Amino acid sequence: MAQVTMTICDRHHQRGEEVPGTTRRFAIDAFKTTADLCDECYEKEVGPLLEFLRSVTRTTIAKRPARPVNRSRKSKLDSSAVRAWALENSIDVSPRGRIRQDVIDKYQAAQS
Ligand SMILES: [Zn+2]
Repeated sequence: MAQVTMTICDRHHQRGEEVPGTTRRFAIDAFKTTADLCDECYEKEVGPLLEFLRSVTRTTIAKRPARPVNRSRKSKLDSSAVRAWALENSIDVSPRGRIRQDVIDKYQAAQS
């Protein structure tokens, strides 16, 4: 009898049935495993968990304050530290808005 290699659903296999499945990868915390499941078993076994995870994910995203990432900033520069340094060194710097590049250059030169 010719043997055809195919993925069999683990859940159906436990009941002595051979149903084609798909290898699924799971990872929760440090626990990682794979299971071959047909679509029906995947929905039945994993569906509720996925639903739970999605609901938690939505909550997490909603709680996080929207803060746009400033990609124009070249490096992590603590502007309040620059202003404090400028004040200490009698360098004129505006309390708000963009700090002049020459002030930043002087600040960085002073730090190194
Ligand atoms: Zn199955």
